[in-house]
Amino acid sequence: MTFLGTGTSSGVPMIGCQCEVCTSDDPRDNRSRPSVLIHVDDPTAPDGQRRWVIDTGPDLRTQMIRADIHRIDGVLYTHEHADHVFGLDDLRRFNAVMDQAIDIHAEPATMAVLQTTFQYIFQKHNNPNKTFVADLIPWTLEAYKPIELHGVTFTPLRLMHGRHPILGFRVDYTTPEGHAQKLAYCTDVSTIPPETYPYLQDLDILVLDGLRFRHHPTHMTIDQALEQFDRIGPRQGYLTHMAHEVKHSVVDPQLPDGVHLAYDQLTVYCDQGMET
Ligand SMILES: [Zn+2]
Ligand SMILES: [Zn+2]
Ligand SMILES: [Zn+2]
Repeated sequence: MTFLGTGTSSGVPMIGCQCEVCTSDDPRDNRSRPSVLIHVDDPTAPDGQRRWVIDTGPDLRTQMIRADIHRIDGVLYTHEHADHVFGLDDLRRFNAVMDQAIDIHAEPATMAVLQTTFQYIFQKHNNPNKTFVADLIPWTLEAYKPIELHGVTFTPLRLMHGRHPILGFRVDYTTPEGHAQKLAYCTDVSTIPPETYPYLQDLDILVLDGLRFRHHPTHMTIDQALEQFDRIGPRQGYLTHMAHEVKHSVVDPQLPDGVHLAYDQLTVYCDQGMET
């Protein structure tokens, strides 16, 4: 998994802020809007790799250019907030390069907002300029109902973002050598419902929302996320969706063993040693 963006909705630096983190020259304090790329080697893929992006935030274009990504196999959405969807229009470049439509997966409520917000994309028959409009195929997700894409299983997980139900994703993949790889990505979460915990067992990697230290109504604080890592016990834990209160070089060394702050362009790998 590659972290394309690890910042909160405003990004870090924030417009008009002169604080220590917003003016930091540590690249790990420079956080674009939250998104991750899931990738597995696959000799049958046109360039040897299958890739899915979770969310298409407003920084998608710069994220894809700096990560040198030329094709993707699909998009999965957690929820419809602007910091997770406003780069959707830029998917048209992948249509042009790949010369094919792109599958996008979301819950009905999220899909409905996408189809309203980007009406000109989803009502192509109204648009005379078809080649400049993204070609997307909508697929419906249902919490806890796994989908399999090119041998990778994505299980949508119910998370609560304040009072708003959204999705996280568990991803399971077995390598040709028979190694099971298991991770989960849970951004924009304040509470994990009891029904979701069984799906978070036995993970190589768990990513949780770790906005900042002060309480927030719709995001976990870093301390709340650490309690969850303790309870769930993944082999590696990463925090994402961080605000400008969090200075990487100060906070990361204080975290418990096996837990780190994610940062933009970090790639993490599941444990290759675990046999199925
Ligand atoms: Zn967000
Ligand atoms: Zn700041
Ligand atoms: Zn959100």
